Amino acid sequence: MTDPPLMMGHRCGGCSRVAFPPDPYGCEKCGAPASEFEELELEASGSVQAVATVHRHHHPKPTTPFTVGVIKLTGGPVVKAIVEGNKVVVGDTVKGVLVDGEDDNGNPVVDLHFRVAT
Ligand SMILES: [Zn+2]
Repeated sequence: MTDPPLMMGHRCGGCSRVAFPPDPYGCEKCGAPASEFEELELEASGSVQAVATVHRHHHPKPTTPFTVGVIKLTGGPVVKAIVEGNKVVVGDTVKGVLVDGEDDNGNPVVDLHFRVAT
């Protein structure tokens, strides 16, 4: 397994836009069909663009409080994910980690979280 994990996105053959997650219907920027996409590995690392702490949540998992960050990946796309750490601030550099957990029904899942890089 790579460290940090890799995320499978794509690059549009029409306009070179990089996207994650892959869009099965085509490019939202130039309209090129999905058949013109090239798979692209994106490193799960980037910088925090916005951050919020969740104190109330409509599912039992993850347990509150937890922190959600808007993360601009090094490869370009922006994702939202849980960011671990006590003092996460805008501008922090973060790195993805795979975390074992379980869903609301107790089934095992693997989630991608981010941690502030040291
Ligand atoms: Zn495009």
